[in-house]
Amino acid sequence: MKMFAGKVALITGGSSGIGEATAIQFAKEGANIAIAARRTKESELVVKRILDLGGNAFSIKTDVSLSQDVEAMVDATLNQYGQLDYAINNAGIAGPRCTPVADISEEQWDEIMSINLKGVWLSMKHELRAMGNNGEAAIVNVSSIYGTKPSDIGHAAYSASKHAVIGLTKSAAADYGNIPIRINAVAPGFTLSEMVNPDRPGAAERYQALISRHSSMNRFGKAEEVANAIVWLCSKNASYVNGSVLSIDGGSTTRLY
Ligand code: NDP
Repeated sequence: MKMFAGKVALITGGSSGIGEATAIQFAKEGANIAIAARRTKESELVVKRILDLGGNAFSIKTDVSLSQDVEAMVDATLNQYGQLDYAINNAGIAGPRCTPVADISEEQWDEIMSINLKGVWLSMKHELRAMGNNGEAAIVNVSSIYGTKPSDIGHAAYSASKHAVIGLTKSAAADYGNIPIRINAVAPGFTLSEMVNPDRPGAAERYQALISRHSSMNRFGKAEEVANAIVWLCSKNASYVNGSVLSIDGGSTTRLY
């Protein structure tokens, strides 16, 4: 029998990259999937991939920074499937890069905090009320290597948002551990996706320099490698893992910068 047969997984930012790979992995293990993201066309392509695999999926257009969207996202999942077992709070943006702290605009600061941080809190707020108390529910929040160490590329707003995701995750794990709803975070290193795309003009050299410095394995991660860890954290194999931050970074966190 498949690991997540009859279970329901909600993935924010499921329209591309790590979220898409995670949705596919959950579906392969038998979970019913809800994809929440802003782009309808991309989300529907992921839904189609899952249906083509013989799985079950639907998408709901969601901006995780908007309270009413997040509430509707969870309600739609309950309406569709009648339960919520796993929530992957993965939606995020990069925000300003190569920008020293004093040059970050207030608008940029507010945007990244409302998506990367408030979006995770709002998602948990509504997901937690929908999750059962059978002891099997789990949440994984997607932080970053820059949530565990300083950004060295003028990426302070992003780094601050991802540090905060870890604080929020650990505190929520303490709040809900007695049910238990297990709540963990992953901290991916540089992973190929729309956010980290070395094929963008001028990007290859910059990313290669970062990879040489950051990854002991001297390569980018693949979205599937992050997805595998997320799926494991939700599985019964991780039944005593709560409030942890799992690095998936080829060894980046063995280095200070
Ligand atoms: P992508 O850009 O491919 O994915 C980002 C996802 O977030 C998209 O599906 C996007 O969908 C969604 N999203 C962005 N803003 C919103 C919003 N306001 N509401 C709902 N969905 C939103 O990049 P990744 O897959 O790499 O990123 C996924 C997560 O992984 C992010 O949180 C990122 O910070 C984190 N991460 C990535 C790393 C990397 O190297 N790639 C390293 C460490 C962490 P849409 O545009 O359709 O809304």
